[in-house]
Amino acid sequence: MSCQIELLHVSLQYGLRDVVRDVSVQIEEGEFFVIIGPNGAGKTTLLKSITGLHRLTAGEILLRQRSVSKYSRKELARSLAMVPQHINAEFPFTVAETVIMGRYPHLGLLAVEGKRDLEIAEQAMAFTEVLHLADRRLGQLSGGERQRVIIARAICQQSKVLLLDEPTASLDPAHQLRIMDLMERLRQREQITIIMVSHDLNLASAYADRLLLLNEGRVAALGTPNEVLSGETLEQSYGCRLHVDEHPLLGTPRVSLLPRTDH
Ligand code: ADP
Repeated sequence: MSCQIELLHVSLQYGLRDVVRDVSVQIEEGEFFVIIGPNGAGKTTLLKSITGLHRLTAGEILLRQRSVSKYSRKELARSLAMVPQHINAEFPFTVAETVIMGRYPHLGLLAVEGKRDLEIAEQAMAFTEVLHLADRRLGQLSGGERQRVIIARAICQQSKVLLLDEPTASLDPAHQLRIMDLMERLRQREQITIIMVSHDLNLASAYADRLLLLNEGRVAALGTPNEVLSGETLEQSYGCRLHVDEHPLLGTPRVSLLPRTDH
């Protein structure tokens, strides 16, 4: 496996506030990498920084050994696809129109999509099981369906790195699993690198190769789920009581919330 993304001593500020502080990590091609941490830890900011959207205050981000600041917007869009946290339900396009937008980084100036682009879009919709919704508008879909459309658009982009910001938030358990299984299949089929922000420690434990635990913008822990998901480490970062044991069926760490007993 080769290194796909490398963060070297990355720091970021909003105004004068440090939001990400000296984060260094190497993410391998085909890795399922999940960023966890409390609200406000800097997870979304760090994820967006990989797309070159934020100017770093220090450090460097390399995509295949080349600084992301050296890529053009179009080159970056061919290499990285982002599935954002909030998808505007008022987006005035149909599912098919939304998904085909993933081809834009591959088209020349003023070029229209060709037969091959339409085929790729159709395959992406079939893969995420939204083909039957092709003519519906985004506003007419459930949260889970909309999420799968945006993932189809990202797949249509055919980039080797997929960045997802809490893709399972607000989905019921069956839809959460569907999204996670989709990611796992993509990774296995296409060797796509998945970098995901998640609040769900148990999904992260079950699917991730490695976890990055961010706290106040710093790396609090980095490693396999077994290495990162210890009760003590999590309690220090999240500031609440958590119990970690081994999942009886999966063998992965299982995290349970412990209610406060002093009230
Ligand atoms: P997380 O994803 O871990 O919840 P974020 O990366 O969204 O954290 O935010 C990290 C910190 O930066 C938070 O304190 C948040 O309030 C602040 N922040 C996020 N976006 C902006 C912004 N556009 N301008 C100023 N501060 C921001």
